[in-house]
Amino acid sequence: MAHIKFYSGEEVPLEMHKVRIVQKLSLPHIERRLEALNEAGNNTFLLKNTDIYLDMLTDSGVNAMSDKQLAAMMESDDSYAGSSTFTKLENKIRDIFGTDYFLPVHQGRAAENVLAKVFVRPGQVVPMNYHFTTTKAHICVNGGSVDEIIIDEGLEVTSSNPFKGNMDIAKLEAIIQKRGAENIAFVRVETGTNLIGGQPHSLENLRQVSNVCNKYGVLLVLDASLLADNLYFIKTREDACKQMSVREITRAIADLCDIIYFSARKLGCARGGGICTRSRDLFMKMRELVTLYEGFLTYGGMSVREIEAITVGLEETMDDDMISQGPQFIAYMVNELDRKGVPVITPPGGLGVHLDAKRFIPHVPQTEYSAGALASALFLVSGVRGMERGSVSEQRDDDGNEVYSNMELLRLAVPRRVFTMSQLKYAIDRIVWLYENRALIGGLKFVEEPKMLRFFFGKLAPTSDWQHKLVAKFRSDLGDSL
Ligand SMILES: *Cc1c(COP(=O)(O)O)cnc(C)c1O
Repeated sequence: MAHIKFYSGEEVPLEMHKVRIVQKLSLPHIERRLEALNEAGNNTFLLKNTDIYLDMLTDSGVNAMSDKQLAAMMESDDSYAGSSTFTKLENKIRDIFGTDYFLPVHQGRAAENVLAKVFVRPGQVVPMNYHFTTTKAHICVNGGSVDEIIIDEGLEVTSSNPFKGNMDIAKLEAIIQKRGAENIAFVRVETGTNLIGGQPHSLENLRQVSNVCNKYGVLLVLDASLLADNLYFIKTREDACKQMSVREITRAIADLCDIIYFSARKLGCARGGGICTRSRDLFMKMRELVTLYEGFLTYGGMSVREIEAITVGLEETMDDDMISQGPQFIAYMVNELDRKGVPVITPPGGLGVHLDAKRFIPHVPQTEYSAGALASALFLVSGVRGMERGSVSEQRDDDGNEVYSNMELLRLAVPRRVFTMSQLKYAIDRIVWLYENRALIGGLKFVEEPKMLRFFFGKLAPTSDWQHKLVAKFRSDLGDSL
Protein backbone atom coordinates (compact mmCIF):
# COMPACT_ATOMS: atom_id res chain seq x y z
CA MET A 1 0.00 0.00 0.00
CA ALA A 2 1.25 3.42 -0.83
CA HIS A 3 2.44 4.80 2.49
CA ILE A 4 3.79 8.07 1.20
CA LYS A 5 4.73 10.68 3.75
CA PHE A 6 3.88 14.22 2.71
CA TYR A 7 6.45 16.87 3.72
CA SER A 8 3.50 19.15 4.56
CA GLY A 9 2.29 16.62 7.11
CA GLU A 10 -1.09 16.39 5.38
CA GLU A 11 -2.40 12.84 5.08
CA VAL A 12 -3.56 12.22 1.54
CA PRO A 13 -4.03 8.78 -0.04
CA LEU A 14 -2.05 8.58 -3.26
CA GLU A 15 -3.44 7.04 -6.45
CA MET A 16 -1.20 4.23 -7.77
CA HIS A 17 -2.73 4.42 -11.24
CA LYS A 18 -3.19 7.06 -13.90
CA VAL A 19 -6.30 7.92 -15.85
CA ARG A 20 -6.13 7.24 -19.59
CA ILE A 21 -9.79 7.17 -20.61
CA VAL A 22 -12.13 9.89 -19.40
CA GLN A 23 -15.85 10.55 -19.49
CA LYS A 24 -17.10 14.13 -19.67
CA LEU A 25 -19.25 15.23 -16.73
CA SER A 26 -21.64 18.13 -16.40
CA LEU A 27 -22.68 20.05 -13.32
CA PRO A 28 -26.09 21.63 -13.97
CA HIS A 29 -27.07 24.83 -12.22
CA ILE A 30 -28.89 24.55 -8.89
CA GLU A 31 -32.19 25.70 -10.45
CA ARG A 32 -31.96 22.86 -12.95
CA ARG A 33 -31.11 20.45 -10.15
CA LEU A 34 -34.28 21.50 -8.33
CA GLU A 35 -36.31 20.82 -11.50
CA ALA A 36 -34.58 17.47 -12.01
CA LEU A 37 -35.30 16.50 -8.41
CA ASN A 38 -38.99 17.24 -8.88
CA GLU A 39 -39.12 15.32 -12.15
CA ALA A 40 -37.54 12.37 -10.32
CA GLY A 41 -40.06 12.57 -7.46
CA ASN A 42 -37.21 13.16 -4.98
CA ASN A 43 -36.04 9.63 -5.68
CA THR A 44 -32.37 9.52 -6.67
CA PHE A 45 -32.93 6.24 -8.57
CA LEU A 46 -35.11 8.19 -11.02
CA LEU A 47 -32.58 10.95 -11.80
CA LYS A 48 -31.02 11.05 -15.26
CA ASN A 49 -27.25 10.78 -15.55
CA THR A 50 -27.03 14.05 -17.52
CA ASP A 51 -28.31 15.93 -14.44
CA ILE A 52 -25.74 14.35 -12.12
CA TYR A 53 -22.21 15.53 -11.38
CA LEU A 54 -20.84 12.75 -9.12
CA ASP A 55 -22.75 9.50 -9.26
CA MET A 56 -22.30 7.94 -5.84
CA LEU A 57 -25.38 5.74 -6.07
CA THR A 58 -23.53 2.42 -6.09
CA ASP A 59 -20.27 0.62 -6.80
CA SER A 60 -22.07 -2.03 -8.84
CA GLY A 61 -20.76 -2.43 -12.38
CA VAL A 62 -19.23 1.05 -12.36
CA ASN A 63 -15.71 0.47 -11.04
CA ALA A 64 -12.98 1.67 -13.39
CA MET A 65 -11.40 -1.03 -15.53
CA SER A 66 -7.68 -1.28 -16.17
CA ASP A 67 -5.81 -1.10 -19.48
CA LYS A 68 -5.04 -4.81 -19.11
CA GLN A 69 -8.71 -5.66 -18.63
CA LEU A 70 -9.68 -3.72 -21.75
CA ALA A 71 -6.89 -5.39 -23.73
CA ALA A 72 -8.01 -8.85 -22.58
CA MET A 73 -11.57 -8.15 -23.73
CA MET A 74 -10.31 -7.81 -27.29
CA GLU A 75 -8.93 -11.35 -27.40
CA SER A 76 -11.93 -13.24 -26.08
CA ASP A 77 -12.92 -16.59 -27.56
CA ASP A 78 -16.59 -16.50 -28.47
CA SER A 79 -18.01 -20.01 -28.60
CA TYR A 80 -21.14 -21.41 -27.00
CA ALA A 81 -19.39 -24.39 -25.46
CA GLY A 82 -15.79 -24.99 -24.48
CA SER A 83 -14.63 -21.39 -24.87
CA SER A 84 -10.97 -20.98 -23.95
CA THR A 85 -11.92 -17.66 -22.37
CA PHE A 86 -13.94 -19.60 -19.81
CA THR A 87 -11.04 -21.96 -19.14
CA LYS A 88 -8.87 -18.96 -18.30
CA LEU A 89 -11.37 -17.80 -15.68
CA GLU A 90 -11.80 -21.30 -14.27
CA ASN A 91 -8.02 -21.60 -13.90
CA LYS A 92 -7.75 -18.18 -12.29
CA ILE A 93 -10.44 -19.08 -9.75
CA ARG A 94 -8.62 -22.36 -8.96
CA ASP A 95 -5.35 -20.46 -8.60
CA ILE A 96 -6.79 -17.80 -6.26
CA PHE A 97 -9.40 -19.68 -4.21
CA GLY A 98 -8.07 -23.22 -4.55
CA THR A 99 -11.50 -24.41 -5.70
CA ASP A 100 -11.64 -26.94 -8.55
CA TYR A 101 -15.24 -26.37 -9.55
CA PHE A 102 -16.63 -23.12 -10.91
CA LEU A 103 -20.12 -22.21 -12.12
CA PRO A 104 -20.55 -18.94 -14.04
CA VAL A 105 -23.68 -16.79 -13.56
CA HIS A 106 -24.77 -13.43 -14.98
CA GLN A 107 -24.56 -11.51 -11.67
CA GLY A 108 -24.51 -11.98 -7.90
CA ARG A 109 -28.24 -12.44 -7.35
CA ALA A 110 -28.27 -15.21 -9.95
CA ALA A 111 -25.84 -17.16 -7.76
CA GLU A 112 -28.20 -16.54 -4.84
CA ASN A 113 -31.13 -17.88 -6.86
CA VAL A 114 -29.26 -21.12 -7.57
CA LEU A 115 -28.02 -21.52 -3.99
CA ALA A 116 -31.44 -20.85 -2.47
CA LYS A 117 -33.22 -23.21 -4.88
CA VAL A 118 -30.76 -26.03 -4.26
CA PHE A 119 -30.17 -25.71 -0.51
CA VAL A 120 -33.13 -23.94 1.11
CA ARG A 121 -36.19 -26.03 2.09
CA PRO A 122 -39.40 -24.50 3.48
CA GLY A 123 -39.05 -23.85 7.20
CA GLN A 124 -35.26 -23.83 7.15
CA VAL A 125 -33.22 -20.94 8.44
CA VAL A 126 -30.03 -19.32 7.14
CA PRO A 127 -27.98 -17.76 9.96
CA MET A 128 -25.83 -14.90 8.65
CA ASN A 129 -23.85 -11.93 9.91
CA TYR A 130 -26.20 -9.60 8.01
CA HIS A 131 -28.53 -9.87 5.04
CA PHE A 132 -28.23 -8.29 1.62
CA THR A 133 -31.51 -7.33 -0.11
CA THR A 134 -31.36 -9.85 -2.96
CA THR A 135 -29.99 -12.65 -0.75
CA LYS A 136 -32.85 -12.38 1.71
CA ALA A 137 -35.43 -12.22 -1.08
CA HIS A 138 -34.17 -15.46 -2.66
CA ILE A 139 -34.07 -17.32 0.65
CA CYS A 140 -37.59 -16.15 1.57
CA VAL A 141 -39.07 -16.91 -1.87
CA ASN A 142 -37.93 -20.50 -1.35
CA GLY A 143 -39.69 -20.73 2.03
CA GLY A 144 -36.65 -20.15 4.22
CA SER A 145 -35.93 -17.38 6.68
CA VAL A 146 -32.94 -15.30 7.64
CA ASP A 147 -31.48 -14.97 11.13
CA GLU A 148 -29.05 -12.10 11.55
CA ILE A 149 -26.45 -12.71 14.21
CA ILE A 150 -23.99 -9.91 13.71
CA ILE A 151 -22.11 -8.83 16.87
CA ASP A 152 -23.97 -6.11 18.79
CA GLU A 153 -21.50 -3.40 17.79
CA GLY A 154 -22.28 -4.07 14.13
CA LEU A 155 -25.48 -2.09 14.50
CA GLU A 156 -23.95 0.78 16.45
CA VAL A 157 -23.52 3.75 14.15
CA THR A 158 -20.25 4.88 15.71
CA SER A 159 -17.75 2.48 17.13
CA SER A 160 -14.04 1.83 17.31
CA ASN A 161 -14.45 -1.90 16.66
CA PRO A 162 -12.32 -2.66 13.58
CA PHE A 163 -14.48 -5.69 12.64
CA LYS A 164 -18.11 -4.65 12.95
CA GLY A 165 -19.05 -7.28 10.36
CA ASN A 166 -18.13 -10.21 12.67
CA MET A 167 -20.65 -12.91 13.46
CA ASP A 168 -21.64 -13.61 17.09
CA ILE A 169 -20.26 -17.13 17.55
CA ALA A 170 -22.26 -17.91 20.71
CA LYS A 171 -25.49 -16.98 18.92
CA LEU A 172 -24.54 -19.16 15.95
CA GLU A 173 -24.04 -22.18 18.13
CA ALA A 174 -27.25 -21.44 20.05
CA ILE A 175 -29.32 -21.29 16.84
CA ILE A 176 -27.93 -24.56 15.54
CA GLN A 177 -28.63 -26.28 18.86
CA LYS A 178 -32.13 -24.82 19.10
CA ARG A 179 -33.23 -25.50 15.52
CA GLY A 180 -31.18 -28.63 14.89
CA ALA A 181 -28.51 -28.84 12.19
CA GLU A 182 -30.98 -30.40 9.74
CA ASN A 183 -33.04 -27.19 9.79
CA ILE A 184 -30.11 -24.97 8.92
CA ALA A 185 -29.95 -24.63 5.12
CA PHE A 186 -26.44 -23.20 5.39
CA VAL A 187 -24.56 -20.53 7.30
CA ARG A 188 -23.77 -17.43 5.27
CA VAL A 189 -21.01 -14.94 5.92
CA GLU A 190 -21.08 -11.75 3.89
CA THR A 191 -17.64 -10.30 3.52
CA GLY A 192 -17.46 -6.47 3.65
CA THR A 193 -21.03 -6.37 4.99
CA ASN A 194 -22.87 -4.14 2.53
CA LEU A 195 -25.94 -2.79 4.32
CA ILE A 196 -24.23 -1.82 7.56
CA GLY A 197 -21.63 0.38 5.95
CA GLY A 198 -19.20 -1.97 4.19
CA GLN A 199 -17.91 -3.23 7.55
CA PRO A 200 -15.43 -6.16 7.52
CA HIS A 201 -15.19 -9.45 9.40
CA SER A 202 -11.84 -10.77 10.61
CA LEU A 203 -10.12 -13.94 9.41
CA GLU A 204 -10.20 -15.19 13.00
CA ASN A 205 -13.98 -14.74 13.20
CA LEU A 206 -14.46 -16.66 9.95
CA ARG A 207 -12.26 -19.43 11.37
CA GLN A 208 -14.50 -19.66 14.43
CA VAL A 209 -17.63 -19.72 12.27
CA SER A 210 -16.08 -22.49 10.21
CA ASN A 211 -15.22 -24.50 13.35
CA VAL A 212 -18.84 -24.35 14.51
CA CYS A 213 -20.10 -25.33 11.03
CA ASN A 214 -17.72 -28.31 10.93
CA LYS A 215 -18.72 -29.38 14.43
CA TYR A 216 -22.40 -29.61 13.42
CA GLY A 217 -21.91 -30.59 9.78
CA VAL A 218 -23.47 -27.40 8.37
CA LEU A 219 -22.38 -25.82 5.07
CA LEU A 220 -20.53 -22.51 5.20
CA VAL A 221 -21.24 -20.18 2.28
CA LEU A 222 -19.27 -16.98 1.72
CA ASP A 223 -20.73 -14.04 -0.21
CA ALA A 224 -17.45 -12.63 -1.51
CA SER A 225 -18.89 -9.73 -3.53
CA LEU A 226 -17.11 -7.15 -1.37
CA LEU A 227 -13.99 -9.26 -0.76
CA ALA A 228 -11.52 -6.67 -2.07
CA ASP A 229 -12.32 -4.19 0.71
CA ASN A 230 -12.44 -6.88 3.39
CA LEU A 231 -8.98 -8.12 2.33
CA TYR A 232 -7.62 -4.62 2.85
CA PHE A 233 -9.11 -4.41 6.34
CA ILE A 234 -7.84 -7.85 7.37
CA LYS A 235 -4.37 -6.93 6.15
CA THR A 236 -4.29 -3.54 7.87
CA ARG A 237 -6.36 -4.17 11.03
CA GLU A 238 -5.75 -7.81 12.03
CA ASP A 239 -2.40 -8.21 13.75
CA ALA A 240 -1.98 -11.90 12.90
CA CYS A 241 -2.38 -11.12 9.16
CA LYS A 242 -0.15 -8.07 8.71
CA GLN A 243 2.73 -10.14 7.37
CA MET A 244 0.55 -12.21 5.04
CA SER A 245 0.22 -11.33 1.35
CA VAL A 246 -3.22 -10.51 -0.09
CA ARG A 247 -3.07 -13.81 -1.94
CA GLU A 248 -2.32 -15.74 1.26
CA ILE A 249 -5.21 -14.07 3.11
CA THR A 250 -7.57 -14.83 0.22
CA ARG A 251 -6.54 -18.46 0.25
CA ALA A 252 -6.91 -18.70 4.02
CA ILE A 253 -10.46 -17.33 3.72
CA ALA A 254 -11.37 -19.66 0.86
CA ASP A 255 -10.03 -22.74 2.65
CA LEU A 256 -12.55 -22.19 5.46
CA CYS A 257 -15.64 -22.14 3.21
CA ASP A 258 -17.61 -24.84 1.38
CA ILE A 259 -19.02 -22.51 -1.25
CA ILE A 260 -17.93 -19.04 -2.34
CA TYR A 261 -20.10 -16.88 -4.59
CA PHE A 262 -19.66 -13.34 -5.82
CA SER A 263 -20.99 -10.52 -7.92
CA ALA A 264 -18.30 -9.61 -10.44
CA ARG A 265 -20.02 -6.23 -10.75
CA LYS A 266 -18.05 -5.56 -7.57
CA LEU A 267 -15.29 -8.17 -7.20
CA GLY A 268 -13.11 -8.17 -10.30
CA CYS A 269 -14.32 -4.79 -11.63
CA ALA A 270 -16.41 -6.06 -14.55
CA ARG A 271 -19.94 -7.46 -14.88
CA GLY A 272 -20.90 -11.05 -14.06
CA GLY A 273 -20.65 -13.50 -11.21
CA GLY A 274 -19.81 -17.02 -10.13
CA ILE A 275 -20.04 -19.87 -7.63
CA CYS A 276 -16.91 -21.75 -6.55
CA THR A 277 -16.47 -24.95 -4.57
CA ARG A 278 -13.93 -27.68 -3.88
CA SER A 279 -16.68 -30.30 -3.70
CA ARG A 280 -17.70 -32.20 -6.80
CA ASP A 281 -20.84 -33.26 -4.99
CA LEU A 282 -21.97 -29.67 -4.32
CA PHE A 283 -21.03 -28.70 -7.87
CA MET A 284 -23.20 -31.47 -9.30
CA LYS A 285 -26.16 -30.33 -7.20
CA MET A 286 -26.03 -26.81 -8.64
CA ARG A 287 -24.94 -27.54 -12.19
CA GLU A 288 -28.34 -28.15 -13.77
CA LEU A 289 -29.88 -24.97 -12.43
CA VAL A 290 -27.06 -22.91 -13.90
CA THR A 291 -27.80 -24.26 -17.37
CA LEU A 292 -31.53 -23.77 -16.78
CA TYR A 293 -31.44 -20.16 -15.56
CA GLU A 294 -28.12 -18.72 -16.71
CA GLY A 295 -26.70 -20.40 -19.80
CA PHE A 296 -24.33 -23.17 -20.73
CA LEU A 297 -21.64 -24.00 -18.15
CA THR A 298 -18.92 -22.18 -20.08
CA TYR A 299 -20.53 -18.73 -20.06
CA GLY A 300 -23.46 -18.65 -17.60
CA GLY A 301 -25.15 -15.61 -19.13
CA MET A 302 -21.97 -13.53 -19.28
CA SER A 303 -20.40 -12.15 -22.43
CA VAL A 304 -16.98 -13.65 -23.09
CA ARG A 305 -15.53 -10.13 -23.05
CA GLU A 306 -16.68 -9.68 -19.48
CA ILE A 307 -15.29 -13.11 -18.59
CA GLU A 308 -11.85 -12.03 -19.86
CA ALA A 309 -12.16 -8.80 -17.87
CA ILE A 310 -13.09 -10.68 -14.67
CA THR A 311 -10.11 -13.03 -15.04
CA VAL A 312 -7.72 -10.10 -15.22
CA GLY A 313 -9.66 -8.15 -12.59
CA LEU A 314 -9.40 -11.00 -10.07
CA GLU A 315 -5.65 -11.23 -10.58
CA GLU A 316 -5.37 -7.45 -10.15
CA THR A 317 -7.34 -7.72 -6.89
CA MET A 318 -4.44 -9.73 -5.42
CA ASP A 319 -2.48 -6.47 -5.25
CA ASP A 320 -2.04 -4.17 -2.23
CA ASP A 321 -2.39 -0.97 -4.24
CA MET A 322 -5.53 -2.10 -5.99
CA ILE A 323 -7.44 -3.10 -2.85
CA SER A 324 -6.32 -0.11 -0.82
CA GLN A 325 -7.52 2.61 -3.21
CA GLY A 326 -11.24 2.42 -2.36
CA PRO A 327 -10.95 2.07 1.44
CA GLN A 328 -8.28 4.80 1.64
CA PHE A 329 -10.39 7.30 -0.31
CA ILE A 330 -13.39 6.41 1.83
CA ALA A 331 -11.35 6.79 5.03
CA TYR A 332 -10.15 10.20 3.85
CA MET A 333 -13.72 11.35 3.33
CA VAL A 334 -15.04 9.83 6.58
CA ASN A 335 -12.21 11.34 8.64
CA GLU A 336 -12.61 14.81 7.10
CA LEU A 337 -16.37 14.79 7.69
CA ASP A 338 -15.97 13.41 11.20
CA ARG A 339 -13.42 16.10 12.03
CA LYS A 340 -15.93 18.74 10.95
CA GLY A 341 -18.61 17.25 13.17
CA VAL A 342 -20.71 15.71 10.38
CA PRO A 343 -22.33 12.46 11.64
CA VAL A 344 -20.94 9.51 9.66
CA ILE A 345 -20.65 5.78 10.26
CA THR A 346 -17.34 4.92 11.90
CA PRO A 347 -14.89 3.33 11.63
CA PRO A 348 -14.62 3.92 7.86
CA GLY A 349 -15.62 0.80 5.90
CA GLY A 350 -15.47 -0.21 2.25
CA LEU A 351 -18.01 0.58 -0.47
CA GLY A 352 -18.71 4.16 0.51
CA VAL A 353 -19.32 6.88 3.05
CA HIS A 354 -22.50 6.66 5.10
CA LEU A 355 -24.11 9.80 6.53
CA ASP A 356 -26.29 9.22 9.58
CA ALA A 357 -29.52 11.10 8.85
CA LYS A 358 -30.96 10.56 12.33
CA ARG A 359 -28.19 12.74 13.78
CA PHE A 360 -27.71 14.97 10.71
CA ILE A 361 -31.33 16.17 10.74
CA PRO A 362 -32.83 15.06 14.09
CA HIS A 363 -35.72 17.51 13.55
CA VAL A 364 -36.97 15.44 10.57
CA PRO A 365 -38.83 12.40 11.96
CA GLN A 366 -38.58 8.92 10.43
CA THR A 367 -42.24 9.30 9.41
CA GLU A 368 -40.97 11.95 6.96
CA TYR A 369 -38.15 9.74 5.65
CA SER A 370 -35.10 11.56 6.97
CA ALA A 371 -32.56 9.61 4.89
CA GLY A 372 -34.57 10.22 1.72
CA ALA A 373 -34.84 13.92 2.58
CA LEU A 374 -31.08 14.11 3.12
CA ALA A 375 -30.46 12.40 -0.25
CA SER A 376 -32.56 14.99 -2.09
CA ALA A 377 -31.07 17.91 -0.14
CA LEU A 378 -27.52 16.79 -0.97
CA PHE A 379 -28.30 16.34 -4.64
CA LEU A 380 -29.86 19.80 -4.70
CA VAL A 381 -26.82 21.58 -3.24
CA SER A 382 -24.13 19.55 -5.02
CA GLY A 383 -25.28 17.44 -7.95
CA VAL A 384 -23.95 14.43 -5.98
CA ARG A 385 -26.26 11.43 -6.18
CA GLY A 386 -26.36 9.08 -3.17
CA MET A 387 -28.66 6.21 -2.23
CA GLU A 388 -31.24 6.26 0.53
CA ARG A 389 -30.71 3.34 2.91
CA GLY A 390 -33.47 3.86 5.44
CA SER A 391 -37.23 3.53 5.75
CA VAL A 392 -37.98 4.28 2.08
CA SER A 393 -35.98 1.10 1.34
CA GLU A 394 -38.26 -0.89 3.66
CA GLN A 395 -41.69 -2.19 2.75
CA ARG A 396 -45.02 -1.77 4.57
CA ASP A 397 -46.23 -4.82 6.53
CA ASP A 398 -49.27 -6.85 5.48
CA ASP A 399 -51.61 -4.45 7.29
CA GLY A 400 -50.17 -1.45 5.49
CA ASN A 401 -48.22 -0.12 8.46
CA GLU A 402 -44.84 1.50 7.91
CA VAL A 403 -41.79 -0.54 8.91
CA TYR A 404 -39.07 1.81 10.09
CA SER A 405 -35.47 0.75 9.56
CA ASN A 406 -32.85 0.50 12.35
CA MET A 407 -30.73 3.16 10.73
CA GLU A 408 -31.51 6.10 8.44
CA LEU A 409 -28.48 6.33 6.18
CA LEU A 410 -27.46 8.21 3.08
CA ARG A 411 -24.89 6.07 1.31
CA LEU A 412 -22.35 7.76 -0.91
CA ALA A 413 -20.63 4.96 -2.80
CA VAL A 414 -17.05 5.48 -3.92
CA PRO A 415 -16.63 3.20 -6.95
CA ARG A 416 -13.06 1.94 -7.20
CA ARG A 417 -10.57 4.15 -9.11
CA VAL A 418 -13.32 6.38 -10.54
CA PHE A 419 -13.22 9.70 -8.68
CA THR A 420 -10.31 12.08 -8.13
CA MET A 421 -9.30 13.67 -4.85
CA SER A 422 -10.64 17.10 -5.85
CA GLN A 423 -14.02 15.56 -6.61
CA LEU A 424 -14.06 14.06 -3.11
CA LYS A 425 -13.07 17.44 -1.68
CA TYR A 426 -15.96 19.05 -3.54
CA ALA A 427 -18.40 16.47 -2.12
CA ILE A 428 -17.02 17.04 1.40
CA ASP A 429 -17.32 20.82 0.98
CA ARG A 430 -20.98 20.66 -0.04
CA ILE A 431 -21.84 18.13 2.71
CA VAL A 432 -20.28 20.44 5.30
CA TRP A 433 -22.23 23.42 3.92
CA LEU A 434 -25.40 21.37 4.07
CA TYR A 435 -24.66 20.32 7.64
CA GLU A 436 -24.23 23.95 8.69
CA ASN A 437 -27.57 24.72 7.07
CA ARG A 438 -29.30 21.52 8.18
CA ALA A 439 -32.08 23.41 9.98
CA LEU A 440 -33.48 24.30 6.54
CA ILE A 441 -33.92 20.64 5.50
CA GLY A 442 -37.49 19.35 5.79
CA GLY A 443 -39.22 16.05 5.25
CA LEU A 444 -40.76 14.10 2.37
CA LYS A 445 -44.06 12.32 1.80
CA PHE A 446 -45.05 9.73 -0.79
CA VAL A 447 -47.14 10.90 -3.72
CA GLU A 448 -46.81 7.61 -5.62
CA GLU A 449 -46.10 4.54 -3.53
CA PRO A 450 -45.75 1.15 -5.23
CA LYS A 451 -46.37 -1.86 -2.99
CA MET A 452 -43.16 -3.65 -3.98
CA LEU A 453 -39.67 -2.14 -4.20
CA ARG A 454 -40.97 1.36 -3.57
CA PHE A 455 -37.42 2.68 -3.23
CA PHE A 456 -36.78 1.98 -6.93
CA PHE A 457 -39.97 3.42 -8.41
CA GLY A 458 -41.76 5.50 -5.75
CA LYS A 459 -42.18 9.29 -5.98
CA LEU A 460 -42.10 11.71 -3.07
CA ALA A 461 -42.69 15.42 -2.51
CA PRO A 462 -41.36 17.84 0.11
CA THR A 463 -43.69 18.37 3.08
CA SER A 464 -43.17 22.17 2.86
CA ASP A 465 -41.33 24.65 0.61
CA TRP A 466 -38.00 23.84 2.32
CA GLN A 467 -36.23 23.09 -0.96
CA HIS A 468 -36.80 26.63 -2.27
CA LYS A 469 -35.49 28.06 0.99
CA LEU A 470 -32.41 25.86 0.73
CA VAL A 471 -31.77 27.08 -2.83
CA ALA A 472 -32.14 30.72 -1.72
CA LYS A 473 -29.64 30.26 1.14
CA PHE A 474 -27.21 28.47 -1.20
CA ARG A 475 -27.40 31.40 -3.65
CA SER A 476 -26.84 33.94 -0.90
CA ASP A 477 -23.82 32.03 0.53
CA LEU A 478 -22.21 30.87 -2.71
CA GLY A 479 -23.47 33.42 -5.22
CA ASP A 480 -23.51 32.22 -8.78
CA SER A 481 -21.28 29.25 -8.01
CA LEU A 482 -22.63 25.94 -9.13
C1 LIG B 1 -24.26 -6.49 -5.00
C2 LIG B 1 -24.29 -7.60 -4.07
C3 LIG B 1 -25.00 -8.77 -4.35
C4 LIG B 1 -25.82 -8.93 -5.60
O1 LIG B 1 -25.04 -8.84 -6.74
P1 LIG B 1 -25.64 -8.33 -8.15
O2 LIG B 1 -24.52 -8.51 -9.09
O3 LIG B 1 -26.04 -6.89 -7.94
O4 LIG B 1 -26.81 -9.17 -8.46
C5 LIG B 1 -24.97 -9.78 -3.41
N1 LIG B 1 -24.30 -9.64 -2.26
C6 LIG B 1 -23.62 -8.53 -1.95
C7 LIG B 1 -22.87 -8.44 -0.67
C8 LIG B 1 -23.58 -7.46 -2.84
O5 LIG B 1 -22.91 -6.35 -2.51
